[in-house]
Amino acid sequence: MKKIIIDAGHGPQTAGKRSPDGTLREFMFNEAVAMRLKKLLIAEGITVIFSHDNTRDVTLSERITLANKLKVDAFVSIHANAYGTDWNAANGIETYTCIQPSKASVVMATHVQQALQMRTSRKDRGVKKGNFAVLRETTMPAILVECGFMTNKEEANLLKSQSYQQQCAQAVAFGVLCWLA
Ligand SMILES: [Zn+2]
Repeated sequence: MKKIIIDAGHGPQTAGKRSPDGTLREFMFNEAVAMRLKKLLIAEGITVIFSHDNTRDVTLSERITLANKLKVDAFVSIHANAYGTDWNAANGIETYTCIQPSKASVVMATHVQQALQMRTSRKDRGVKKGNFAVLRETTMPAILVECGFMTNKEEANLLKSQSYQQQCAQAVAFGVLCWLA
């Protein structure tokens, strides 16, 4: 049976990480998508483990240690993006691998990015490489999705909506399942 870690980025107390008007905290979005994604993957017979905790901020090293100890088949980190701290026009969806990714990470990222773009119709910012600890230090295929910009008024409203959260969860599930198939 496949085991996947879903990682809702940041935590309930993390400073910053919110829309300019304070009405959207990134963890609220990340956690909502993680919960919806878990349901969808469990329905496909996949074992899902959360590396975050709704009651406290889990450190990056704890998340990495858990993934490496459990030897999960994939690590999927859910985020919302920001450009600066004020409202601006930056928008769209991007998916990250680490700087020197495995082939498997690139293939998973490509499937998930395509599914997210198609499901949400947001701008395709592509698959990118980033120096994120959870991607760099985990030992299995690992990706990080940025599902839209909290600093863009239109996308902040989408990120707050349950229908958009469900679209993102469906797309990530579809992309991961295509990758596993
Ligand atoms: Zn984030």
